[in-house]
Amino acid sequence: MTYDEWSTDNPIFDRGQCVEQYCEIDNAGHCSERDENSKYTKVSNEKYQKYIDAINEAQSSYVECNATGCECFKNVIVRDLKPFKKNGIGKDLIDIARTRGTFYQIIGGKLYREKDCMFPSRCAGIEHFLLKIVGNLTDMDLVVNTRDYPQSSKHFGRPLPIFSFSKTPQYHDIMYPAWAFWEGGPAISLYPRGLGRWDQHRELLDKASKSTPWNKKKSKVFFRGSRTSSERDNLILLSRNNPNLVDAQYTKNQAWKSDEDTLHAPPASEVPLESHCAYKYLFNYRGVAASFRHKHLFLCRSLVFHVGDEWTEFYYDSMKPWIHFIPVSKDASQTDLEELIHFAIDNDELSEKIANRGRDFIWSKLKMKDILCFWRKLLKSYGKILSYKPVLDKHLIKIEHK
Ligand code: UDP
Repeated sequence: MTYDEWSTDNPIFDRGQCVEQYCEIDNAGHCSERDENSKYTKVSNEKYQKYIDAINEAQSSYVECNATGCECFKNVIVRDLKPFKKNGIGKDLIDIARTRGTFYQIIGGKLYREKDCMFPSRCAGIEHFLLKIVGNLTDMDLVVNTRDYPQSSKHFGRPLPIFSFSKTPQYHDIMYPAWAFWEGGPAISLYPRGLGRWDQHRELLDKASKSTPWNKKKSKVFFRGSRTSSERDNLILLSRNNPNLVDAQYTKNQAWKSDEDTLHAPPASEVPLESHCAYKYLFNYRGVAASFRHKHLFLCRSLVFHVGDEWTEFYYDSMKPWIHFIPVSKDASQTDLEELIHFAIDNDELSEKIANRGRDFIWSKLKMKDILCFWRKLLKSYGKILSYKPVLDKHLIKIEHK
């Protein structure tokens, strides 16, 4: 569908467009009157032209990916394994990588891990998926980074085969689905055992989204989170300056010491993800790396404003700006943010459409079975480029279902 077709029911074309060629002859009087009154929207629409052009462009090149067999995410696997494909992954490379993550082996369809894991609940979140697929995998060694930050920089040394949940284009790390799809996500007071159980959150958020459909949502931006990145500051400041438009406040995290860590204001109480669904506009930001908030916000059927495009998880690249979410520059000023929010408010049907497409993508293409499917495809492809036959390291412990 082109933007022109799309626009037949789009308020952009209802407002400030009452120029002669759009006037019905019987209604010309009304039209000129409306034309007079719509000077503001004409100005606005000129201001909004860059967004309309971006939507047109996104729309013209967008092809919906095929959800079957986690096809939507296959390019990520191809891209991340490419640096290792030509020469294969030898034991020497794994031995270097071992210092940067947790060492696992899959031997004879069983899973083994070095005894210590830096973050036990993160390892458990990873192992939940690995245990379901090991039976069908060839023998392999793998190094899994359970830290937030990726480990193999493109600017230092040779590419290292390290699995990380999130990275920017500046890293060689091989992306895997985060532990937090099952357990080990950030522990806040609302989720004291750590954010996890994506299967359960999907259902809860779906229920919340149905009890607050688009026309019942507050026409306001909402954000709650800690100051894991200063990129969030401008939205918080905008909220302080324009509380009718934006309700964005910093909460505490484990590193919080004083109001300075919440941008010189007392920390706000935490708000459950389901309660975010009461608002039309939800912001997502990177934290230390990609934030686990991202996928949850879409399920509210709210419009997601996604800030920055550097930090990704394995599924991000198959979601498209202006199709599934509103892209926001990480350097956006308060004025830039205000303009973009007003664009969404002034074009309500368009905003609802983008919100629904974002929701449908996450709902239909990011199920638990897709996470498992991605892990399986990733490790099958990875196993094919290992250039040696691993031998069981006697120091490792066998990991079994709990
Ligand atoms: N979170 C939440 N309600 C809050 C604050 C945070 O549900 O009031 C969730 C948030 O969605 C995220 C996690 O807690 O998934 C950690 O959020 P934070 O902003 O502290 O860190 P991030 O991981 O986003 O950098």
